[in-house]
Amino acid sequence: MLKPNFFTENGLERLSEKRGDNNWKNDLLISENAVFLPFWRTKSLIQDSASANCEISLLSYEEISQFNRKDDEFIFLGFRNDTPYFLTDLSDIEDPSQYSSLSGNRSLKDLREVGLSLSREEGGILAYSRALAQWHKTHKFCGRCGGKTESQSAGHVRRCSNCGAEHFPRTDPAVIMLVSYGEKVCLARKSDWPKDRFSVLAGFVEPGETPEGAVIREVKEEVGLAVTNVRYHSAQPWPFPANLMLGYFAEAVSDEISIDDIEIEEAKWVTREDLEPEALAYFENPTSVSIARRLIADWVTKKF
Ligand SMILES: [Zn+2]
Repeated sequence: MLKPNFFTENGLERLSEKRGDNNWKNDLLISENAVFLPFWRTKSLIQDSASANCEISLLSYEEISQFNRKDDEFIFLGFRNDTPYFLTDLSDIEDPSQYSSLSGNRSLKDLREVGLSLSREEGGILAYSRALAQWHKTHKFCGRCGGKTESQSAGHVRRCSNCGAEHFPRTDPAVIMLVSYGEKVCLARKSDWPKDRFSVLAGFVEPGETPEGAVIREVKEEVGLAVTNVRYHSAQPWPFPANLMLGYFAEAVSDEISIDDIEIEEAKWVTREDLEPEALAYFENPTSVSIARRLIADWVTKKF
């Protein structure tokens, strides 16, 4: 069995069937053990720590009350160890350091900075929170009529106050694929990446397309290779801002690379031996939370 990717575990029981009951949610909000995760712009609250590991900092109802949020601004994430977890966006505050509950021995940090330092479950909680908070921020108006939308179902639906349309949190599928040819893999560098950064190929799934179809099309477009034997590996929620990465392995039918010169600036074949030390080290001490590294490591060590 494959080890889950970062951000896939969060230990939260979502109770989606309960979320439509507003009284249930409001009772939970003021329950003794409810905990609150503030979200500020792209950042979450992290407990300061002298060690390399860090933890989410959770606020009590009393602490979150000083921000005078309305009930519908609290998003129910789920229960974890019998504790209800709520998220609330405080991005409108200009200077969070003025508030004792957002400063002191805690700091606001981006998940990109702290992902590897958190436990897997806490990383998963922040990935889920980040995706939901950003969806709310960018869906305040109805895509059908332009009317104002309101948060409902404990923050998992936005309903248009004008035409009644219901809008649900978005997750945009993207494919990420390791393309091999015998004992080597194709790695590419995007034009806006540093000179020494190479990774596997990736792209969005387009309307009317399957993920496998997107793998074949993207590889052809970006590096000019035809691929076969497209096999699903694993998925990863990627809340930067709202993707679901679908990881694939695919085999090229030739090794003649021809880059598109638009997205990709450079592409090359790298052998298993070249990648081996880095891939083996990855399992001891991951250097990135992304599924890209995981695909490479699993290919090198023939775990998949
Ligand atoms: Zn509308």
